[in-house]
Amino acid sequence: MPGGSPQTLRPFLWRARQLYPETEVVSRTHEGIVRYDYDAYGDRVAQLANALASAGYGEGIEAADRAGRESESPGGARLATFCWNHHRHFETYFGVPGTGAQLHTINPLLPDKHVQYIVENAADRTVFVDPSLLPKLEGAVADGPDAFETVERYVVMGESVPDTDLDAVAYESFIDGQPTSFDWPDLSEDRPAGLCYTSGTTGRPKGVEYTQQMLWSHTMGIQSPQGIPLADDDVVMPVVPMFHVNAWGLPFSATAGGAKHVYPGPKPEPADLAGLIEDEGVTVTAGVPTVWLGLMEHVKENDVDLSSLDRLVVGGSAAPEAMIRFFDDHGVELVHAWGMTETAPVGTVSEVKHGLAEADYETRLAKRGKQGLVVPGLEFRVVDDEGEEVPHDGEAFGELHVRGPWVTTEYFARPEATEAEFADGYLKTGDVVTVDPDGYVDIVDRAKDVIKSGGEWISSQELENELMAHEDVAEAAVIGVPHERWQERPLALVVPSGDDADSLSDSLRDHIRQQYPDWWVPDNVVTIDEIPKTATGKFNKKALRDEYSDGSLV
Ligand code: ADP
Repeated sequence: MPGGSPQTLRPFLWRARQLYPETEVVSRTHEGIVRYDYDAYGDRVAQLANALASAGYGEGIEAADRAGRESESPGGARLATFCWNHHRHFETYFGVPGTGAQLHTINPLLPDKHVQYIVENAADRTVFVDPSLLPKLEGAVADGPDAFETVERYVVMGESVPDTDLDAVAYESFIDGQPTSFDWPDLSEDRPAGLCYTSGTTGRPKGVEYTQQMLWSHTMGIQSPQGIPLADDDVVMPVVPMFHVNAWGLPFSATAGGAKHVYPGPKPEPADLAGLIEDEGVTVTAGVPTVWLGLMEHVKENDVDLSSLDRLVVGGSAAPEAMIRFFDDHGVELVHAWGMTETAPVGTVSEVKHGLAEADYETRLAKRGKQGLVVPGLEFRVVDDEGEEVPHDGEAFGELHVRGPWVTTEYFARPEATEAEFADGYLKTGDVVTVDPDGYVDIVDRAKDVIKSGGEWISSQELENELMAHEDVAEAAVIGVPHERWQERPLALVVPSGDDADSLSDSLRDHIRQQYPDWWVPDNVVTIDEIPKTATGKFNKKALRDEYSDGSLV
């Protein structure tokens, strides 16, 4: 191979240890604040790798059953995490893929049936689980033990194992006594290194695999000046959960840049985030708008020192203009970014382009409110319903298609979903956008029907099926309507099957609550006479959104 060694994660940790052995990793955990440096981090990652190798995972180990998928480069075992953001979770980020195994980060907020589906689909062999999430995982296992048949061990992220029915070992015992160096193997670029599930229009979550090369190229792409570059004087606090597309790749890029890491731990409140920013001197942080709305309220009511903070990265949903202004007023640059699980995730970043830097504040603000400029390394096109590319005039809209080294070209073990959502090497994002003459992409609508509430997906289709299974409902449609705090909340529109519509709203909400987490329950159930249909007889969600989107019903 003319290029020398393959594009893998290995050099990033190697460099951080060489150049910045004393730079810190700080973590808020159930045991209090934990603090160590890259040198100690490297030791512990090597101990984890040795523990995994002696457990039989990693390079040279035959792949677990890949759910029928053909592949020329089967990966090692898939090992899952069910964890918040902390140092042990970060240790798995290099420890698991570095041995040749595949890190599968599971979203613990999902309904149990989704957790069961994805563990079974991925055939995970180990689950690393936080003590605080153990009851939730136990519930999912008790309710669907078959889905966990491939799981050989549960590793609880702490010093000891709380009372549990699961056959579990404590993380610290698992790595204890292992050597602090590891002979990191030469891995192929194509080797699957990560796995993350996204919710889709078809209801069931879909897996996106990240190869070593995808994670390497995404890291280098966002390290470019037109990405979200992190340097050795940065202190980076990913608030975006590490189960959301690897915390947007920041743990990898922070390591590549030699930055200090700060992990905010389980369920951080705005006061926890403000405290960490002040105490650790955080310079860059990242998360969904809901998190920053909470911090804004906290800053308004308390004396918070944000002076260390240079950049606040907002993505997952659109950054409201008022939020950009608020942080500008506090001397913090809000960096608006767009991405998807399928794009590993960063695709666009709303930098102020050279030439616009002199424009007046309102002009620049309007640009920064858009999803931004494509990150170097990716290509995109915007196509209308006829498949024609639309002009970049800021008016014509169409679906955004993206391709590039860190954009997936398939879903894990789901050929039918792959067929529907990819074309000519491009990923069809389901985001409806305009592009202005300066190249700023602006999301104007979403072709996909899934609802995004506080950065988490709710499947409208699943809720509709559940509602329509109720004897008092003839038809049901669920749409996302704008919400100040959560960006979107589900609203159910139902056609009753009988005359008695009176207490229907409460009984249907109770019905959903029995099956799904509280945050899935529609804020309101409105009875209507008929659900509008499209020419092909499908529910016309667009017409419903147009009619009910003023937010007065949730
Ligand atoms: P993530 O976990 O990074 O949010 P998902 O794959 O769950 O990724 O969600 C991707 C979708 O979220 C996009 O297709 C888009 O609809 C929406 N999204 C992401 N970033 C933005 C943004 N900055 N503005 C508006 N919508 C966004």
